Amino acid sequence: MDGPAGGQRESDGTAPAVPLNIVVLGLPGAGKGTQAALYGRTHRIPQISTGDMLRQAIAHRTPLGRTVEAVLARGGLVDDATIVALVQERLAQPDAARGFLLDGFPRTIPQAEALDRLVDGRGTLAVISLEMDPEVIVERILSRRVCEGCGQTDVGTPPADFCASCGGNFVKRADDQIDVVRQRIQTYVDHTQPLVDWYSARPAFRRVHGDRPMAEVAHAFAAAIADALHIQG
Ligand code: ADP
Repeated sequence: MDGPAGGQRESDGTAPAVPLNIVVLGLPGAGKGTQAALYGRTHRIPQISTGDMLRQAIAHRTPLGRTVEAVLARGGLVDDATIVALVQERLAQPDAARGFLLDGFPRTIPQAEALDRLVDGRGTLAVISLEMDPEVIVERILSRRVCEGCGQTDVGTPPADFCASCGGNFVKRADDQIDVVRQRIQTYVDHTQPLVDWYSARPAFRRVHGDRPMAEVAHAFAAAIADALHIQG
């Protein structure tokens, strides 16, 4: 199932010998998206954010967007069948063949069970839990801005005027308001924390502390993935 022992990358640098199949778990605002985008760029695997996909659907007024808009606005969860279908379609794209970083999925045990079926035969799934104190989270989320084009968080100091990746404007996310943030944290505690416990018995599960400078977290994040998948960092 796992790739060759030692798991080193192929010499042409285009395809990893071991597929980088990665799930990132963590409270809203823990830095999943930031770390996933960074790691995805350096390792050339797609960051698949279900939150970004849903926000795109809402922005484009698609049938899916119209169905899920109210759920996102109140900080609840979109139903498992809808989300699993979305992820199934995305994982079937050619760019996900040599690995992917799932950010925001799975969020429930039934979603995780569905993911196990989707990745059956595709190699080991590394599960990284980005851990943060919920007290610190609220402040972090209320002060953040994200790109309206690609969804990336502005991590610049001082804050950037435009997104370096796509040139879009930075805006506040519609659900980054105090009441909705509190509900999203509660939704995580109720539905996703049990999933963290469920995954924690697996050999490729790792915890990374997210309450540190971004570069330090990025280093620990990459090291945790390398350790979980038995590859070089
Ligand atoms: P967060 O910052 O809360 O982690 P995301 O961008 O990952 O935000 O998701 C935003 C919203 O999209 C969630 O609050 C939820 O309503 C919906 N959503 C995203 N992923 C899922 C999922 N896997 N299952 C159900 N709902 C989801």
